[in-house]
Amino acid sequence: MVRDATEAAIRAVLNEKDFLNELDDKIGDGDHGLNMARGAQAAHEALAELDEEAGLKEVLQAVGEAITANVGGSAGPLYGAAFSEAARVVDEDCALDAATLEKIFTAMVAEIQKRGNADRGDKTMLDVLIPIRDSFAAENCAGKSFEDILTQARDAARDGLEFTKTIAARKGRAASIGDKSIGCEDPGAASSLIIFRALCAVWKDSLRE
Ligand code: ADP
Ligand code: MG
Repeated sequence: MVRDATEAAIRAVLNEKDFLNELDDKIGDGDHGLNMARGAQAAHEALAELDEEAGLKEVLQAVGEAITANVGGSAGPLYGAAFSEAARVVDEDCALDAATLEKIFTAMVAEIQKRGNADRGDKTMLDVLIPIRDSFAAENCAGKSFEDILTQARDAARDGLEFTKTIAARKGRAASIGDKSIGCEDPGAASSLIIFRALCAVWKDSLRE
């Protein structure tokens, strides 16, 4: 299931390459789709090298290494390091549940913040990833089914992307145009939502099987 979900996320990124380039064209340099597609392709090739039985930890590790080795720009190294850090914190045979996802997103957000020094409200991928992390916190999941928890996280991610439209960029390339970036979605926030939505769709389907 981890592998299917990852391949679905890879396909989603490849499908949205032009859209992500267009978003980045408005407030950056127009290459976010290209960078993400390069990472997706490298991740796909890395997964093909993995053992059929590879679990969450190995998949996250392979994806992180592939992105770090192949993608430049701001987002590539941040995503690469975030996936590698997520791989480091998960247990070898962990179940895919809210607690594991909280661990993963906590690690990813912390790594991105350590490297990029951004916070919520700076108009970056963190405006999607922090709400996802928070929606998996134990107090926000008590008494809910895993399906409802995923829906809640996906909605929080979508609202996070909407929020980026309303604010000026304070980090990354778009910060140089400041208030002129208001009205546009952040490309990195958009790619985070695209990836997360694709993962959620596969996880939800697997609950119904
Ligand atoms: P570049 O900006 O070098 O062209 P990309 O276009 O691939 O790289 O990525 C741009 C995205 O990277 C932005 O939309 C934003 O979400 C993300 N980003 C840039 N700087 C930071 C940062 N300091 N912290 C978190 N995310 C960032
Ligand atoms: Mg760019």
